[in-house]
Amino acid sequence: MNSLWDPAQAAAINDDALAMRVYSSRLLGQNEDLVMHGGGNTSVKALGRDFFGDEVDILYVKGSGWDLKTIEKPGFSPLRLRETQRLAKLKTLSDDDMARQLRAFLLDPRAPSPSVEAILHAVVPFKFVDHTHTDAVVTLTNNPNGQSIIAELFPDCLILPYVMPGFILAKQVADAIAKHDLIQFKGIILMHHGVFTYANDAQATYENMIELVNRADQYIATHGVTNHPTRSAEVDLLRLAHIRQAVCRCRGRAQIAMLDASGAAAGFASLTNVASLATRGPITPDHVIRAKRTACIIDSKTPENRAIDTTVPEVARFANDYRSYFQRNTNGNLTMLDSAPRWAVWKNVGTIALGSTLKDCRIITDLNRHTAAAIQTGESLGGWEALPEKDIFDLEYWVLEQNKLAASGPVKTHQGKIAIVTGAASGIGRATAIELHAQGAVVVGLDTNAAVESVLAADGLIGRICDLTDADAVKEQTENTVTQFGGIDILVLNAGVFQTGQTIEEASTTKDDSAIWAQTLAVNLTASQKVLSHAIPYLKRGWEASVIIVGSRNALAPGAGASAYSVSKAGVTQLARVAALELAADGVRVNVVHPDAVFDTGIWTDEALRASAERYNMTVEDYKTKNLLGCNIRAKDVAAMIATVAGPVFSATTGAQIPIDGGNERVI
Ligand code: ZN
Repeated sequence: MNSLWDPAQAAAINDDALAMRVYSSRLLGQNEDLVMHGGGNTSVKALGRDFFGDEVDILYVKGSGWDLKTIEKPGFSPLRLRETQRLAKLKTLSDDDMARQLRAFLLDPRAPSPSVEAILHAVVPFKFVDHTHTDAVVTLTNNPNGQSIIAELFPDCLILPYVMPGFILAKQVADAIAKHDLIQFKGIILMHHGVFTYANDAQATYENMIELVNRADQYIATHGVTNHPTRSAEVDLLRLAHIRQAVCRCRGRAQIAMLDASGAAAGFASLTNVASLATRGPITPDHVIRAKRTACIIDSKTPENRAIDTTVPEVARFANDYRSYFQRNTNGNLTMLDSAPRWAVWKNVGTIALGSTLKDCRIITDLNRHTAAAIQTGESLGGWEALPEKDIFDLEYWVLEQNKLAASGPVKTHQGKIAIVTGAASGIGRATAIELHAQGAVVVGLDTNAAVESVLAADGLIGRICDLTDADAVKEQTENTVTQFGGIDILVLNAGVFQTGQTIEEASTTKDDSAIWAQTLAVNLTASQKVLSHAIPYLKRGWEASVIIVGSRNALAPGAGASAYSVSKAGVTQLARVAALELAADGVRVNVVHPDAVFDTGIWTDEALRASAERYNMTVEDYKTKNLLGCNIRAKDVAAMIATVAGPVFSATTGAQIPIDGGNERVI
């Protein structure tokens, strides 16, 4: 690991202590082997002024919710240093009191809540303090001989046994400082936790960290193995969807299942003792908040009977084990968290991150990669040994850690669900994709129009070019979606073409009549049937699965001159009715919405609108609102309806046809 310190950049910062703090914190944050996803924390002590202009000693410490990789000045909480130091002199301090007092000591009440290690930072009598949970050092401490390896390797460091972070750790360090002058040490090594370095100079603080980590890296390179086996894996997508469904059931809500079948993940999952390795505990206890203490171990074999079981025994076993773990360790005053796994080792295939959002899943995937590597390295060094489960439990149920997760806000209606929307480049399809995404779903929008890629381009809102009349392309996109996110819960069949102006008689004399008829039925009816049939096996293994077919008022109240369109929409409506009958037993709902007069769609050009209005002897405005309610129906109104039908409000409704047409006498 090389020092990233750039003397020119550092010199340009001059003597702005907080800017220097930002600079070197980001250097630490850039290296995943030092800190990951909000892990680690840093601080600087500086003289500042309060509101009255009086000089005050300030501790700027990393605020919660900020990441060292991207931190900026406002990410550091300005605390009154003396008062913060004084907290370490108390005999006891409850979590509530600590959090409240730290907030009370802020010079700016709008600042983020200070790190739970703020008191520790305050008592270290140096200007700069860096703290990381570096893989290399922690791997050496998670070893049966960890104590002696660390003592031998770091004779110039203060080595402290594991205690609970927060006030207890701050007291431990304060007591050690009372006995030893920290100046004689390069840093502090906390067993099973991480490293602190400190100096009055940012560069020395940072470079001491790099030096200590390099020492651990070199020890590992000499005594252990860091080249871990890799292999390729074959993925049974139906089983993946089934695993995901079982996890959703266990969690009580939709979860994304992000499979990592990379060579390294598959290699780890193929180790003969992986079930033991992945259930001994995390690299550092703070991972427990995101990943729980152990992985769920999933057997590689697909059950011979493909019938859909209501449980995946491995997930049920994980939940049972979690309940026992809670019972063994609770003090009687705690409420058990959900018992669903956050990651799984799928034997011979890879690892699966399980979470409510893509962000959660990516963080868990990163943690898994580091954990798998650290565990294998640890084994080669004499055995991987995590902290006793009671210590990990205490951290998992530490209210200050749980608060961090709670800060992520309420769960959205379609959070964690996976949706496919056809015809998503414009109009109702595009609006529906955007609406489902806004309500928390991961959405894949398909369209022949290449614009789909640019109109749906956000995290979890993906546009893919797909000719829905091409069965292979449909299969590929369906499978891609499952590979990426673990399943399919919502299918919106919206793609459609509309050609009008011909009576049946006229069509028979027109050269391209059969082309219009064939194309309309191919896109509006047959393609929908194809997408549906490819998606059904996954929908059956989905969570609160729902199919919504976009029909048309024409299906119920056809108009002259649009036979192909009306027939295709009547056909797709009948398809939905049959699907509702076939899929109800598997909990998959199928409903139809019948929009009418939605003019902000790809089908309606200004010219087509004018022509239609003329045919009725109306102005365009009157034509647009020629329904009983006299209302304008927009694509986003239909999208909101579709998202609602896909959601819990309609959980007891299948086979229904819901008009969204402003009221039509012929339909009523
Ligand atoms: Zn820490």
